[in-house]
Amino acid sequence: MAEKRKYKKRFCKYCESKVDFMDYKEVGALRFSLSERYKIMPRRLTGNCKRHQDMISAVIKRARAAALIPYTVTRKQVVTQPFENLR
Ligand SMILES: [Zn+2]
Repeated sequence: MAEKRKYKKRFCKYCESKVDFMDYKEVGALRFSLSERYKIMPRRLTGNCKRHQDMISAVIKRARAAALIPYTVTRKQVVTQPFENLR
């Protein structure tokens, strides 16, 4: 166990809050599945189920196309709280 595990919760957060439909305009709900560089978090780290992960990836891609989430982040823009300025 050389590597420290950052995300220990293994259950699906979206199943827990009983999310059936995701809106790409509600960026706050996608926060759990985006890294600080706005990348989609892999399922093995978030513990999301397949169903919700598929939903999330579709919604995030839609939100990117609508310019709600940046596609890429330069080194200077990297922040620990990516949704600070969205609130
Ligand atoms: Zn789920």
